Amino acid sequence: MANLNIDAIKERTFQAIVIGSGMSGSWAAKELCENGVKTLVIERGRDVKHIKDYPTTNMLPYEFEHRGQIPQKVQEENPVVSRCYAFREDAQHFFVKDQEHPYVQEKPFDWIRGYQVGGKSLLWARQVQRISDIDFEGHERDVFSVDWTIRYKDIASWYSHVEKFVGVSGNKDGLSNLPDGEFLPGFPLNVVEQYFADQLKKHYGNDRHMILARCAHITGNLDYYAKQGRAKCQSRNLCQRGCPFGGYFSANSSTIPWAERTGNMTMRTDAVVHSIIYDEEKGKATGVRIVDAHTKEMEEYYADVIFVNAAALNTNLILLNSTSNRFPNGLGNDNGLLGKYVAFHNYRAGVSAQYEGHLEYTTQGGRPTSGYFPRFRNLHKQETDFLRGYAAGFSANRGTYSDQSGVGVELKENLLNPDKYGPWSVGSHMMGETIP
Ligand SMILES: Cc1cc2nc3c(=O)[nH]c(=O)nc-3n(C[C@H](O)[C@H](O)[C@H](O)COP(=O)(O)OP(=O)(O)OC[C@H]3O[C@@H](n4cnc5c(N)ncnc54)[C@H](O)[C@@H]3O)c2cc1C
Repeated sequence: MANLNIDAIKERTFQAIVIGSGMSGSWAAKELCENGVKTLVIERGRDVKHIKDYPTTNMLPYEFEHRGQIPQKVQEENPVVSRCYAFREDAQHFFVKDQEHPYVQEKPFDWIRGYQVGGKSLLWARQVQRISDIDFEGHERDVFSVDWTIRYKDIASWYSHVEKFVGVSGNKDGLSNLPDGEFLPGFPLNVVEQYFADQLKKHYGNDRHMILARCAHITGNLDYYAKQGRAKCQSRNLCQRGCPFGGYFSANSSTIPWAERTGNMTMRTDAVVHSIIYDEEKGKATGVRIVDAHTKEMEEYYADVIFVNAAALNTNLILLNSTSNRFPNGLGNDNGLLGKYVAFHNYRAGVSAQYEGHLEYTTQGGRPTSGYFPRFRNLHKQETDFLRGYAAGFSANRGTYSDQSGVGVELKENLLNPDKYGPWSVGSHMMGETIP
């Protein structure tokens, strides 16, 4: 600060600073800017403008050199990111490659990162199930791990606030362990998924359910979303390329341009936040230090309010880096817990099978979500030798096999003949509760 004159300091002073422009940072920016707060958003990555910076969004399968696959050499060089299902040829430019930002793993840990404006909101699978008191009260029941400091009632109205703005499609299922929200019309289950849901009801009554997973896609109330410049989901299922319709929620299509339009947002890209400045006299954080990604020069910005939204690990890292006399082990780290007990989404186990029935039906077009089993284990009492529970995705599809014989019209007819599609495939993947 010593080398800056008063005017330069003024230019670098805002009412609020938001670190990271991804899912949560873009929301913080939207809320602050809408409420008249002059906000600086600092993003380590490059700018990604809605539509303009989605280079693959309208490409056809044969236009990709590797037909959508990641070449073996790239996989070998980047084993961590290659384990992410969404790291494919059409979306690879939104992922951080292992080689670009290597890290030491003491235990195996797949750190999937999106360093750009929009962060991981460009990569996500758009699944948005609400957390319920069954989850919030887990510790009360079994005294395992640590308790949440909030309960469902503290967050319910915020869920509604966010769901209305982002657009969430789903059905009101009336389940206490998976609260309903502000839903736009749900996508239909297909015939085999519906059959499965009916069978489950028949055999397990009200104990287990297979419902449509709620997802952040626009399916109705189109005039409201037009104000954000977004349109109805076209079920293209090419979401990870960036959606030119803004059919699903991303920071780039929604919250960032919304904040920008208020005139209160300044975006500083290619600026890696190094640490937060702590004023020992005031006893407060007063700004941030950044490193310009190109010049490697260090700069400072100031504000009374600082939101740290750099995603779980980088947020910890920035706070650990923010040392002062008062906080020698990192800002707010009096208990020494920063950077420890970090847990990622636990979704490893999966099953798949073939189903011989319903051969007279098939599906047409895409659908950006799937079926979902809300948690049914250990809901009302401890039933198993493990604590807590898990949810699972479920989907059925047909058309994996097709008759590729013939040439010209005959080939086309064979490809489109449902009698020759083979059996339905069904699949499910489990997601365990994430506990630190
Ligand atoms: C493949 C995939 C699928 C997913 N599917 C779902 C899903 O279906 N449902 C769901 O709820 N969640 C899903 N997630 C998780 C979800 O994407 C994240 O929880 C969410 O994006 C986290 O938001 P965030 O704002 O904390 O971080 P991010 O969205 O990652 O944003 C962090 C931003 O901070 C920036 N940044 C980092 N460090 C610095 C620094 N030092 N200085 C300046 N900027 C910095 C980053 O570049 C980034 O732009 C998925 C994630 C992945 C990878």
